[in-house]
Amino acid sequence: TAASKGRRETLAETLKPLSLHFSECHSWEDFLDDSLASLDRNYLRRRKLVTTHLPGAWVERDGQMLVNFGGNDYLGLRNHTQVVAAAITALQADGVGSGASPAVCGYSLEQLRLEARLAQLNQSPAALVFSSGYACNLATISSLVSDQDVLYSDALNHASLIDGCRLSKASRQIYPHNDVQRLRECLANTRQRFQRGLIVTESVFSMDGDTAPLVELAELAEQYNCGLIVDEAHATGIYGARGAGLIEGLGLTGRVFAKLGTLSKAIGCLGGYLCGSQNLIDHVLNFGRAYMFSTALPSSVLSAATASVELIESRVAERSALRSMAIRIRLDLRGMGWRVLGEDSPILPVVLGDERTALELCTALRAAGLFVPAIRPPTVPVGTSRLRISLSCEHTETQIESLLNALARCRSVAPPL
Ligand code: PLP
Repeated sequence: TAASKGRRETLAETLKPLSLHFSECHSWEDFLDDSLASLDRNYLRRRKLVTTHLPGAWVERDGQMLVNFGGNDYLGLRNHTQVVAAAITALQADGVGSGASPAVCGYSLEQLRLEARLAQLNQSPAALVFSSGYACNLATISSLVSDQDVLYSDALNHASLIDGCRLSKASRQIYPHNDVQRLRECLANTRQRFQRGLIVTESVFSMDGDTAPLVELAELAEQYNCGLIVDEAHATGIYGARGAGLIEGLGLTGRVFAKLGTLSKAIGCLGGYLCGSQNLIDHVLNFGRAYMFSTALPSSVLSAATASVELIESRVAERSALRSMAIRIRLDLRGMGWRVLGEDSPILPVVLGDERTALELCTALRAAGLFVPAIRPPTVPVGTSRLRISLSCEHTETQIESLLNALARCRSVAPPL
């Protein structure tokens, strides 16, 4: 309707770079007041909220004990005894910080070992570890393409992929989410105008919980002489016989130019990684500024991640149970009339539309003892605010039942979607 279009435009205005508001304000404090007030008016303001993680998928927030449906620790490895023990041993031997960037003297034996282990898990010639997944995506994409080149990027890619694309000087062609036909047309119309080309996608989309058509994307990449870059942040540990991700699950190992990942989700630690050819790794090591000009991870984190990768391989029953649980809960929620995206990934977005409804539902669930985050712009497009349920194999049947019962109660009082 015209009203909802108007509202979308107002929100889009709110999210524009802040400098646009500046000319109307007298001082920096006026400018800050103005920008924060516009977030408040539109239900978009974020605040610091301390969360304490407790065993068994519980968290304490604002003095309240809640079942946590907001984390990315899908396999419960963040607090696994072997992972924690590896961190403590390295911490005692090596201290807290790494002391320097990897290019100077921050590159440790633990980093070398973790990279070898990640390369092995992903059946890749080589790997490189970064201080975060965000840094990995920024460094990799921006170091590979320049003004003569072209990037084909899914419209719903994660902010770190978008920022990596923006940081490069390459032409950006954004194709509609998972739309192979539109990407094919775009490649046919534009590819020959540029030198190198990259297709950039997530394998499991972080806010949509659905999966990319990787087989078709690999075919298009080959047909149009592009490199395929896949971010497996939310697929690692969940898909593939050894938990390497959806590339492994679909038998595409060896057909993907660069695989990006994070150590912060199913691996339960901190940091990011890139897997690919030895030349690709050596290139990013020499040209990736977010790698070169940032302090290396400490050995405690690197050792913990190596221990966690060992465990991931053997978590075959856990990943299969998690995906079955995700299918079952989707069916139940759809049966209640909720609009839930995706198929079997442990990210279940319940799309609501406006920000206020998402916040109100989040509050209602909190009153029922459940933490389910409300995801709003700029994390998702305006008008698609949602609850995002993240499942972990730490969740018990009783906790899942509480979630389903609470959502059934909320559905009976909610307006039609
Ligand atoms: N890529 C995707 C798809 C993500 O969801 C995230 C996490 O927020 C990242 C990259 C960034 O990873 P990290 O949190 O390790 O910086």
